[in-house]
Amino acid sequence: MKSLDSHIESVLWTSDEITSRVSELAAEISADLSHLSEPPVLVGVATGAFLFLADLARHVHLPVTVDFIRAESYGSGTESNGSPKISSDLKLDVTGRHVVLVEDIVDTGSTISCLIAHLESKGASSVSVCTFLDKPSRRKVHFKLLGNGKFYRGFECPDYFVVGYGMDFAELYRNLPYVGVLKPERYKCQSP
Ligand code: 5GP
Ligand code: MG
Repeated sequence: MKSLDSHIESVLWTSDEITSRVSELAAEISADLSHLSEPPVLVGVATGAFLFLADLARHVHLPVTVDFIRAESYGSGTESNGSPKISSDLKLDVTGRHVVLVEDIVDTGSTISCLIAHLESKGASSVSVCTFLDKPSRRKVHFKLLGNGKFYRGFECPDYFVVGYGMDFAELYRNLPYVGVLKPERYKCQSP
């Protein structure tokens, strides 16, 4: 089988750029949450945030607990259908806890808004969002963080469909160590 690098039109962030930005984010989060009496809960939004969560967690120098949640609104296309559903819930009890939702991309905002509401209903005392990429130009839902939660983002992403560093198209490309723009002809041709 061939590598998928040839499907990438351009690289937006290299592996080195990602590593350095993720450690800055982790330092910021560590400083902001060092006063908590109970360990914060890092909640990765599966599957796209798996690499980001792993790298971030390694650089947060505080006791933390880790869990995953899954919300689905994407099929195999490049546009959200706008009504995400929680398809796999937390294992940990987040009642009274500070949660940091760790996401790959905040795009229209509907997924993160649904997840914040869900964590509120589960009794989290505050919810921060740490997203690797943010596409503010595409926002449709203006979500509110819970309690004294903060919004952290790695990079502002231009309005392209991107893959790599956890992010997929039709479940491929997640293991690319960089983030790149997928060649548009690939949207029509799904076999590698
Ligand atoms: P939202 O609900 O904010 O519109 O979409 C959030 C989800 O859509 C992200 O967590 C991500 O899974 C997916 N998404 C949005 N933009 C992109 C993109 O450029 N590339 C990939 N692979 N997924 C995206
Ligand atoms: Mg996602």
